[in-house]
Order: sequence, then C-alpha cells, then structure tokens
Amino acid sequence: MSRIYNFSAGPATMPDAVLEQIRRDIPDWQGTGMSVMEVSHRSKEFIGVAESAEERLRQLLEIPDNYSVLFLQGGATLQFAMVPLNLSAQGQTADYVQTGSWSAKAISEARKYCNVSVVADSADRNFTFVPAEDSWQRSDDAAYLHYCANETIAGVEFPYVPDVDDIPLVCDMSSTILSRPVDVSKFGVIYAGAQKNISIAGVTIVIVRNDLLDRGRDDTPSLLDYQIYAKSDSMVNTPPVFSWYVAGLVFEYLQQKGGLSAMAAVNERKAKKLYDAIDSSAFYSNPVQEDDRSWMNVPFILRDAALDQVFLIEASAAGLANLQGHRSVGGMRASIYNAMPESGVDALIDFMHEFERSKS
Ligand SMILES: *Cc1c(COP(=O)(O)O)cnc(C)c1O
Repeated sequence: MSRIYNFSAGPATMPDAVLEQIRRDIPDWQGTGMSVMEVSHRSKEFIGVAESAEERLRQLLEIPDNYSVLFLQGGATLQFAMVPLNLSAQGQTADYVQTGSWSAKAISEARKYCNVSVVADSADRNFTFVPAEDSWQRSDDAAYLHYCANETIAGVEFPYVPDVDDIPLVCDMSSTILSRPVDVSKFGVIYAGAQKNISIAGVTIVIVRNDLLDRGRDDTPSLLDYQIYAKSDSMVNTPPVFSWYVAGLVFEYLQQKGGLSAMAAVNERKAKKLYDAIDSSAFYSNPVQEDDRSWMNVPFILRDAALDQVFLIEASAAGLANLQGHRSVGGMRASIYNAMPESGVDALIDFMHEFERSKS
C-alpha cells in the first residue's frame, strides 16, 4: 500500500490493518460468497457482527450493564435535536456549556425544543479555554447539562468530567471518544458520530443510561426515540450496516492494541510532542490554554499567514495531507486521532522544522 499521512478532521484516517481486513472481506465475507454490505441486517451473520461490535465497545469503555448502546444514523448533528426531544419536557430548562462551534450548534438546535440556559461561555476569549466549573451559573431545575468534551475546530478539550451528579450529564464525544478511558457511569448520555475515531461516516453511537429511556416526548418521531431503538437492538429500520461492521473492526483493532489505556499513552505522547514543537518555535503558535489543549485536534497558525498556502502545498507534496484549519478559523489543524501513527506526527514535526528553517 502506498499511503500518505492524512490529518483530516473527519472523515478521518483509518487504521491500515482495518482497511486490509475490509479488502479481504470483499467480495466474500466469512465464506458467504457475499460482502457484508449485501446481506440482510436481520440475517444471523449480520446480527453476529452487530452484537460483537456492541460487546467490544462495552469492553473497551467498560460500559456498565444499566446502559444501552444504540447504533443510530444522522450523525452527531441529529443528536443536537434528539437529546432535548428525549430528555426534556416542552418548555423545560436544559443547561449548556458553550466552548466552541460544536456546542454552539447544539445550543441553537436545542433552542427549538426547550429553554436553553447557557451556564458558561468561552466565546469572549475566542473559545481558547474551558471555563472553570465553579463559575458555571447552573439552573435549579435543569433537565440535563450538555457539553462537548472536545471542540474539534478550536482544539479545546475538557481535561476532566464535570460533576453534576444531581442531573443527567450529556456529552458530545464525537472527536475524543476512545482516545482515552472515561468513566461512563458519570454520564446520562454520551454520543458520537463515527467518522473521527470509530468508523466510517454513517453510524452514530449513543450510550444512554436506561432510566432515561422513558423521558421522550409523546410526539417524538419513532426514528428519533432512544427507547424505540433500545427495544429493537437498533434495528427499527435498516441500520447503516457497513459503518457498523467497520466500527466492530476498529474496536477489535483497539483491543489488540491494548485497549484505551494503551491508546491514551500513545495519544498523550503524540499530542505533547506536537505542542512542544509549536511552543518551542516563534514561527508557529497555538492559542489554547495549556491544560485545555486537545489530544486529538491540534490547530496552529504560522507567524506569517501569507505562507499558509505554501505550507499546505509543500506539506502535501511531502505526503502530509489535509492540514488546512477549519474554514471558520483558518490557519492549520492537525487531527491526530487513534489511527494516526506516531510516525505521522514525527513526520509532521520534521516537516515543520524544515519549513521554518527554509522560510526564516
Ligand atoms: C464532527 C462533529 C460533529 C458533527 O458530526 P456529524 O456526524 O457530521 O453530524 C459534532 N460534534 C463534534 C464535536 C464533532 O467533532
């Protein structure tokens, strides 16, 4: 295989071993003479895939038995509506922490369905930090508290799990899930789109505590109702079978790599060396408060923005692709999810040093 290092924020790079397995499984999967995308989702073969993917995820995240794992569609974006529809009554207040573009989107969607109270907001400092928990203006009667664990665009990550044990804690983990261990028992709902750290686009994973399953509104559409998915093993209608199957392969790969503690050690090391390279140069910079820097998405700017295009072209020629920052913020962003090998981060750092030397 001739592979480059792909720093895309999502859809993102996949582990080579998983791509190889997919190639082997097409066109004859498990001796069926068919590929997995051609079999009924109700066949015993596919149900085996579905159950084993869920079991592996439960092992990886040590998900307690009183939680359901749902395999949905619509991306993390649909959860911005499904969360209020499933957890709040009409007119009820829900607390939201705003730390960047994704939590802002969750807030504006939730406003259609409930009374949103923004309890903390880092917009005044350009989303470069996580507001201290003791400054949050929480409501007395909130249906839940929502936050985004890792803001994929600005590269801001909560270094802790908020403590709101009196109400359900709801978290958008799309760009950080599986990057390190997390105590699932602290959450009411965790959700994540697949195309960053789980699988290819298509499936969305929701982990929900079972006592929250009956809070849906009467007029919630069936296909947006957690309870209905939980009762049907996420097979209310045809699920995104291929993405679900790929998720199972990624979970198996992560287990073979030693699970989430092993991933965390590598991820922390990868991020640290990249931030060190940025901080030790006057040519590159990252504005995020040190404790709140993301392990997964590392934005940086060049001292001279006029060099941005040259940087991207030369990086791409060196086999380092998709480093452009999000269109809303500009600059660069290196997404270094689980599937980005440490050698890719090393290659990027070498390139950055060489680029700085040649342009200074
Ligand atoms: C990518 C992303 C989303 C949107 O995911 P879709 O699957 O495209 O809907 C939401 N939240 C976060 C934190 C993301 O990184």
